[in-house]
Amino acid sequence: MPSDDPAQSLAAVRDAITRAAKLAGRKDTATLIAISKTKSADEIAPLLDIGQRVFGENRVQEAEAKWPALRARYPDIQLHLVGQLQSRKAEDAVALFDAIHSVDRPSLVAALAKAMEKLGKRPACFLQVNIGDEPQKGGCAVADLPALLAEAQGAGLPVAGLMAVPPADVEAAPYFALLAKLARDHGVAGLSMGMSADYETAVTLGATHVRVGSALFGPRLGARA
Ligand SMILES: *Cc1c(COP(=O)(O)O)cnc(C)c1O
Repeated sequence: MPSDDPAQSLAAVRDAITRAAKLAGRKDTATLIAISKTKSADEIAPLLDIGQRVFGENRVQEAEAKWPALRARYPDIQLHLVGQLQSRKAEDAVALFDAIHSVDRPSLVAALAKAMEKLGKRPACFLQVNIGDEPQKGGCAVADLPALLAEAQGAGLPVAGLMAVPPADVEAAPYFALLAKLARDHGVAGLSMGMSADYETAVTLGATHVRVGSALFGPRLGARA
């Protein structure tokens, strides 16, 4: 559970990540992306004050409203988009974000490539895989990953890794292991996996980026995921 003190929550999550990486015999650790969706600038500020610089949002419009002002105060912020992205918002996303974790279809690859060309800015791209084959979830089918990867590389996107959100309410480890295997098989380095409930497991299975919201900020009241 997150404590009321964001500094304490942040320290606890960072410690847990370090411990999990050590336990797994890793020489490196994972980047903590603090997921600040639905949280106000006032709620985010304490984490900035104590040194957290990597944040994630799931909606372009919400991020556009919050982050330019925060960035003016903390220019070294790194902002990641972790939510579904409509192709018509690709240019806005490229303009604002340093990384995009939801690249999941050829039409979006094309829109992002065009936006990057136009803006001369190339955010790191993670290809999202629908690892549990759930109809309501974003991400490409496991079987379509090789074609999507070829498409993204062919279009010149800087492919940094794979991303997935495993099915809720079941053991996540097998899904993390599958995503790690897919990344190995396809020669991509990054693995964006693990949320508040399971980020330590994800780190032991090789996550390079964990996306942690409620364990840092407390629950999102009545919020959409
Ligand atoms: C909201 C969200 C998270 C963070 O979820 P918590 O359970 O609050 O840690 C991580 N990844 C994605 C894609 C999200 O939408």
